Amino acid sequence: MSAKVLIVDDLFPNVKLLETKLSLEYFDVLAAMNGPDAIAICEKGLCDLVLLDVMMPGMDGFEVCRRLKSNPNTAHLPVVMVTALDQPADRLRGLDAGADDFLTKPIDDTALFTRVRSLVRLKAVTDELRNRALASREFGMGDPLALAAAETGQNASILLVEDRKSSAERLSAALGQHHKVTVAADPHDALVLAAEGTFELALVSLDLQGFDGLRLCSQLRSLDRTRNMPVMMIAEEHDRARVIRGLEFGVHDYLMRPVDRNELVARVRTQVRRSRFSETLRGAVQASMEMAVTDGLTGLHNRRYLDSHLSVLFCDAALRHRPVSALMLDIDRFKSINDTYGHEAGDEVLRAFAGRIRLHTRGIDIVARYGGEEVVIILPDAEPDAAHVIAERIRERIEAVPFLIQRETREVRVTVSIGVACRHADDQGPADMLKRADLALYRAKSSGRNRVEAEAA
Ligand SMILES: [Mg+2]
Repeated sequence: MSAKVLIVDDLFPNVKLLETKLSLEYFDVLAAMNGPDAIAICEKGLCDLVLLDVMMPGMDGFEVCRRLKSNPNTAHLPVVMVTALDQPADRLRGLDAGADDFLTKPIDDTALFTRVRSLVRLKAVTDELRNRALASREFGMGDPLALAAAETGQNASILLVEDRKSSAERLSAALGQHHKVTVAADPHDALVLAAEGTFELALVSLDLQGFDGLRLCSQLRSLDRTRNMPVMMIAEEHDRARVIRGLEFGVHDYLMRPVDRNELVARVRTQVRRSRFSETLRGAVQASMEMAVTDGLTGLHNRRYLDSHLSVLFCDAALRHRPVSALMLDIDRFKSINDTYGHEAGDEVLRAFAGRIRLHTRGIDIVARYGGEEVVIILPDAEPDAAHVIAERIRERIEAVPFLIQRETREVRVTVSIGVACRHADDQGPADMLKRADLALYRAKSSGRNRVEAEAA
């Protein structure tokens, strides 16, 4: 994966040094020597990650970071702050500004490459989500990016895995001001708790008695139920090698003992924000996919869904020499329902009609609103006789019980006409079958309505 890294530093030798190191590892490098230039490059979407010097004349690194993180167009870009000295105060200011990570000058190569790689990997996932969420804008659901960027990262449910009592107390006291903390001293309990799927972040000690905390991290990263939950490690200074291994297999962040409580709070907030950001985007993507294939009035599938799924299903049935049947339904004299009771009543009848049809079809059937008061039901694996029986049952259930509308103050008697057709071996595609079902429906209408007619033999 070739990623574009933007180096921001006011001193040319610093830019050059980082550029050389990163180019040797096959990253593409861009440079900016002040804040406004850096922001412009980011807004144009020209880079995947920002290495940002803190001390710059004019706009300093904190300000640049704050602006990037509050702009919906750039909030998703990972920012690594580069500080001259390991100043806890600087780190804190950076985290408050929304920085994703830190590097201290002189920059350690291993730390540089590990962090850059893991952030780039993370961004690839976010980009995919972002693109799909952007597509969901056309469904009029507001702007998921703005919503996601406004997330504060507070009030999360956090799982702390720590068997040293005093440390557990100190850490949960610090986090408890902003979040709800559950402590698990036993790693097996922790895994069971986490699998329930209610935690938004796990904080795992790597120095548990008789258990490798790294193993728990790896389990959390691979379980379906916990895969999207951020995991952070707490480690002793001498344990850097294991920390790097954890980062390599996808652990999101770490803290070194003794844990600075401000840094703990800030890093947890960053992780929670980032994870909720992704969740918001994922939710928008999910909702837009559902809206794209669902009819808004009846909740049945729409014609677009029918068209795309039916051709796949039809080809598959042809290959396996399996039957497929289609029912074409049309509510009788629907226009007079609208004329008598009004269009809202007509809509209510349509919704109730759809609900009743769903009760009498199987999960594998496709039920789609085809036109105004027309519904198509596709019955995979149903022979003509079986399809006829199902159609007759639906016709009967619609006629048997009147529909209650206008808050159950009015009863409307509804009947339906149904045409039945099946796949023929010489059909060119599903349109041929639907055409025959439509002709059968026409015959049901012309011979008196409230009837089921099969295609002509
Ligand atoms: Mg500088």
